[in-house]
Amino acid sequence: MTEKSLCRGCSDSVIVTEEVIEELVKETEEDLSVIVSDDVYEARLKICNSCSSLRYGTTCALSGSIVRYRAKFKNKACPLAGNPKWEKVN
Ligand code: SF4
Repeated sequence: MTEKSLCRGCSDSVIVTEEVIEELVKETEEDLSVIVSDDVYEARLKICNSCSSLRYGTTCALSGSIVRYRAKFKNKACPLAGNPKWEKVN
């Protein structure tokens, strides 16, 4: 059912496998100075996982980013204009 509701033209390119996501997340850990603490990361993901803009369980419809990747970075914020659901970290 889920497959049928997707756009046929782009569904192959927007669905990202667990393996690819895990590889992306692992790459972020190569430079610990740019990533948030585990607590902040989990809090961000909890927000994303209950957000109506989350698509396929992986991707933010507003930024086009894989949330498990984007949420790792201190210098990233939720892209919701005017009222981001999570903020950058200094
Ligand atoms: S980054 Fe913001 S808008 Fe995107 S899924 Fe997460 S909470 Fe929602």
